[in-house]
Amino acid sequence: MSGKAEYIIKSGTFFRGKGLSNDIDFMAVRSGRILGTGKEKEMERYVGSETEVETVSPDCLVMPGFHDSHVHTVVAGMYSACVNLGDCGSEEETCKKVKKYAETIPDEPWVHGYNWYHVFWENKVLPTTRIIDRYVSDRPVFLTSAEGHTAWLNSRAMELCGITKDTEAPPYGKIFKFDDGTPSGCLDDRAIDIAANIACRFPESVEMKFIREHIKKANYYGITSLNDFLPFYGFDIGNHDIFKKLHERGELSLRVHCAPNLFSDIDEILSRREKYNSDRFRICMLKAFVDGVWAMHTALMLEPYANKPDSFGIPACDLDRLKEKIEEAHRKGISIRLHCCGDGASHYALDCIESAVEKYGQTGARHAIEHFETTIPEDIRRCASLGVIASIQPSHMAMIDAFDASTYLGAFNERQKKMAWAIKSFMEAGVTVVFGSDCPIVSNDPFLGLYRAVTRLHNDGKPEGGYNPEQRISIEDALDAYTLKGAFGVGREDELGTLETGKLADFIVLDRNLLKIDAEEIRGTKVLKTFIDGKCVYAAS
Ligand SMILES: [Zn+2]
Repeated sequence: MSGKAEYIIKSGTFFRGKGLSNDIDFMAVRSGRILGTGKEKEMERYVGSETEVETVSPDCLVMPGFHDSHVHTVVAGMYSACVNLGDCGSEEETCKKVKKYAETIPDEPWVHGYNWYHVFWENKVLPTTRIIDRYVSDRPVFLTSAEGHTAWLNSRAMELCGITKDTEAPPYGKIFKFDDGTPSGCLDDRAIDIAANIACRFPESVEMKFIREHIKKANYYGITSLNDFLPFYGFDIGNHDIFKKLHERGELSLRVHCAPNLFSDIDEILSRREKYNSDRFRICMLKAFVDGVWAMHTALMLEPYANKPDSFGIPACDLDRLKEKIEEAHRKGISIRLHCCGDGASHYALDCIESAVEKYGQTGARHAIEHFETTIPEDIRRCASLGVIASIQPSHMAMIDAFDASTYLGAFNERQKKMAWAIKSFMEAGVTVVFGSDCPIVSNDPFLGLYRAVTRLHNDGKPEGGYNPEQRISIEDALDAYTLKGAFGVGREDELGTLETGKLADFIVLDRNLLKIDAEEIRGTKVLKTFIDGKCVYAAS
């Protein structure tokens, strides 16, 4: 490209991408792309009468926008619109907060809340309808737990959803019951689907509000691309047409790469892909849950739980059917994303991918295992040889402030502890590692993710030196996983992820130089500006 720039940013410190020279003074932008970069003396040829030149402090870091590789967009918007119960220390306190919130939304048909966690309550016991009914009984209440794999309902909600003594739990789900057999209010995994199907079907205007909410939050944190996982409560939450409409109205200031359910009709998705394939919104991959989560003993393990020796966890789907769908998707060249928290789940998922590759060879699909919270060395090697991406959310390492209260510690045996969030081992083996947040399960603040990956510390500063300190990585590697590698995951490494001439001008300006500061300061980083296609979509006030 040649000619004059529309916009030039100069004097900041640049991080163009891992391994690229940062010895530049400016970056010029035109028509949404990077026109050129260089030393100050080379800048003159880009400056025309219309060029806006912005000078920023040398302390500021100019870098590619973040790619959040694991998000549930509509659910994230829904959570930010309802009540957060994460700070409640007991069942009673949680109910009081729900009641107070319900009073502020008298016209809403449902009362939604999230982030309660009995694990942190004094009694550590799952809650029931009995207590919540004492606080809110006139309207249905639907409250999801911190890891999103349990829902707590009041009796009104149970009634509306038709969940009675006679309701059988669907496969891969559980309906908790009182001794007399009546449902006690909590639903696990696929049983949540029964209630969510009624509680979480939103009209278009509401869903649009939720998506807008998340776009704003993402741009605020310097996120310019994300992978949106639609399957949540047994159905795909996120209407493609709403994204398309937002794009047409110029409101989609994010590149959304969406993943419908792997268990849908793949040919139908492939034909839909033709319709939804713009630079801002496209269908890129398919998602499935292979297992659940540690806290509920539903993550699938290779060895029994350290704190529940009779259990290996339970799968979240029919594993034979999963194998067929993985092979079909692979054969048709579409990438898959597989939720695997336990080492047993990822081991099986890799068996399926291996078999698909043996049958059909490489087809251009870029598959990923999501979460990968613990693993075995053999599977790290298999990821490298099969080209499977490790999609990790470093913030999951410290979902709660105090390290000693971490739910993983009790569930993992010594071997699994050693291989928990083995980020460096993956990288050293040549596996592509991408980072994401899993918002709304944890905040989508990428600086928290970077901080965890670099320090492996909880908010209480423990354990000293970090959890499995040998797995700490450099800030350059962490940034790479949050930018270029994310773009690679969706096949867009040629146009996104670094600040190189010709690439799309998605970049951010930070208030500090992440490459120079103390790791402790990473957490407080502020985004000053976010650009997508060379246009500023967020500026700090
Ligand atoms: Zn998720």
